[in-house]
Amino acid sequence: MPTNGRAERERLRIAIQKSGRLAEPARTLLSACGLDWRVQGDRLFCHGESLPVDLLLVRDDDIPGLIADQVCDLGFVGRNVLAEQDGERRASGQPSAFREWRALGFGACRLALAVPDGWQWTGPGQLAGRRIATSYPVLLREWLAREGVDADVVRLSGSVEIAPRLGQADAVCDLVSSGATLAANQLKPVATVLESEAVLAGPVEPLEGVRGELAGLLLRRLDGALQVRNTRLLMFQASRDALPDLLPLLPTSQTPTVMPVEGGDRLALQALCGSAVTWQQLEALKRAGASGLMVLPVEGMLA
Ligand code: ATP
Ligand code: ZN
Repeated sequence: MPTNGRAERERLRIAIQKSGRLAEPARTLLSACGLDWRVQGDRLFCHGESLPVDLLLVRDDDIPGLIADQVCDLGFVGRNVLAEQDGERRASGQPSAFREWRALGFGACRLALAVPDGWQWTGPGQLAGRRIATSYPVLLREWLAREGVDADVVRLSGSVEIAPRLGQADAVCDLVSSGATLAANQLKPVATVLESEAVLAGPVEPLEGVRGELAGLLLRRLDGALQVRNTRLLMFQASRDALPDLLPLLPTSQTPTVMPVEGGDRLALQALCGSAVTWQQLEALKRAGASGLMVLPVEGMLA
């Protein structure tokens, strides 16, 4: 891996998870931004081909620290990891060295408080004097403080969900998406400590110089890529008199493009929709006089 770090670097460096839940979606999103890479021998560093933007493949937990140390400029990491490590810095009197730049819409989960199935949950006060196992002690302590509850936080680096069965804790505070892992361990979620998803993390202050320009370019492409994920182009034809009935039925707040069709009174319409178009919406448009209805995915967008 090239050793020139920090200020003199003229290439942008992005850290992503090497393997795990965020690895594949992170690469897919960066590819959608037009980036591609040559994997080098050690397989930890990928040299950017189409743009001077390189990838570093690491454990997700290392990403905030790599940004703080300016080894990397940006990173794709769970909000849970970023918030916990930011809290750790604050708790030890260090200034913030990274922040969330964008939410990325994948890796959704929540950091949840879970108690044994048999508990009749009456509220956070029930945790007073109890032991709670977690890999997120800072976020849990902050939540307990907000709720005014005094409980013992047991820090575990993994297998948090089996702690109650092993007698190490009474409750847990862990990441949940479907809840299946909790259920398999006879636990039930009762409160949310943090809503999380993958985020683009970067330094507190904007990047400057060449890397600042590259980051700006990447952000514009990222915003475009995130926007097109849910965007559809709706196209159809209709007669001019049907227009007043059709316009209120369009599943979009944007004004559609209306074009005359050669040699008649018919119009061709196209509208960008910010979400999937349902069958019900299409059927309603058809009843109001639309024909040749088509819904197309959008490949790219630049505002
Ligand atoms: P690494 O080897 O990189 O340290 P890891 O085991 O810490 O990997 P993963 O299990 O791949 O990490 O999870 C990465 C991120 O995925 C989490 O920090 C979280 O933001 C997100 N995530 C989404 N759903 C879940 C879930 N059900 N359980 C755990 N993490 C989840
Ligand atoms: Zn990890």
